[in-house]
Amino acid sequence: MGPQQPALDELKRRACESVELNAARLGELSRSIWRRPELAYQEHHAHDAMTGFFSGAELPGAAWAVRPRYKLDTAFRAEWGTAAPGPRPLRVAFLCEYDALPGIGHACGHNLIAEVGAAAALGLKAALESLPQPAPVAVQVTVLGTPAEEQGGGKIDLINAGAFDGLDVVFMAHPSQENAAYLPDVAEHECYHVSEDTEFLCKANKRHSSEEFILGFILLDMLSVTVKYYGKASHAAAYPWEGVNALDAAVLAYNNLSVLRQQMKPTWRVHGEIFIKSDIQHVEIKGGKNDYYNVLPNKSLEKIYKENGKKLGIEFISEDCILNGLSGSTDFGNVTFVVPGLHPYFYIGSDALNHTEQYTEAAGSQNAQFYALRTAKALAMTALDVIFNPDLLEQVREDFRQVKLKEEGQLHPVVTDKKPDAGVGACASR
Ligand SMILES: [Zn+2]
Ligand SMILES: [Zn+2]
Repeated sequence: MGPQQPALDELKRRACESVELNAARLGELSRSIWRRPELAYQEHHAHDAMTGFFSGAELPGAAWAVRPRYKLDTAFRAEWGTAAPGPRPLRVAFLCEYDALPGIGHACGHNLIAEVGAAAALGLKAALESLPQPAPVAVQVTVLGTPAEEQGGGKIDLINAGAFDGLDVVFMAHPSQENAAYLPDVAEHECYHVSEDTEFLCKANKRHSSEEFILGFILLDMLSVTVKYYGKASHAAAYPWEGVNALDAAVLAYNNLSVLRQQMKPTWRVHGEIFIKSDIQHVEIKGGKNDYYNVLPNKSLEKIYKENGKKLGIEFISEDCILNGLSGSTDFGNVTFVVPGLHPYFYIGSDALNHTEQYTEAAGSQNAQFYALRTAKALAMTALDVIFNPDLLEQVREDFRQVKLKEEGQLHPVVTDKKPDAGVGACASR
């Protein structure tokens, strides 16, 4: 049994106090990452700043066990646990992103994600360290540095490498224009016009027929597709009519996708790049990055997070706004398929939109610090609720199971021999 409500309130107060006590060094950590923006998988300075932070002797309380370059060159893992007897500890993790965007720096505010993850972990640790010994519940607090969200999907690499094995709950908060415990992702699907000589390759580089692709893969949140065009060489001056121009085919396909956008639903997105191989007969259109799944909602975590946030003065947007508000897709979605997770959004004191120069400025401003630290406090408080309320933890796990079952049913549709309607241009929507 955990502490009664007054004692739990005292632990939450202790967590918030610790975040405040560390505010200056947390702000410096965030600014250090912001000043030197680095792209996906190249976040060496951010990695060193984060691992240096958790290895620093000046941090209060017991030392963190830090594992630099954890499974990826620019990922890390820092852990601290209570020494309680009994079964395996409850493992709570905070994720830190720290990659930036090409040309405009930290326009998505991932420096603040790193700061919030670090701050929440410090707060939770301080609260647990203030418990009378022996601690009633064994807890392990993990901070996981997860590179390459904007491009690549570092969390997917880390999932595949086993970094999330054994974790019980995962938290990460993302900067936004508003405060929300959950926002539905923009569902990113792709539309195809299918022609005879077109080859569809999935991420595993397996060749698929157009029909297989549409029926079997289209329901992923973000689908990355490579379409290869093969041409036929001929003398361009003497007998050009003998040739088949792969480049023209790829350019036309790209242009058609571009004009198709005006007929697309507001929640659909399609992006592509054209790659020309040296032999000119061989042209590819490629989609963006790893397949990102929808973030699975967890109603129980969201409810507790909102209760804690409101106590700190966070004003959350209404349910209606949530239905109309959309976020970009994120590799945190993939995490929520392996561990129950919470991915709230937080206002940073600016109405600027993510991925703009104005947002870069806001993410590095002193003004954002208040909002970031307040969010970290709400996360630490929510983690304390999960740790000390076994019924809540059970409910969180049940929500995870139910939502995942439902979502997976949609991810793997039964492939039948029924042809898609109209044969061409089939688009998925939900
Ligand atoms: Zn972004
Ligand atoms: Zn982002």
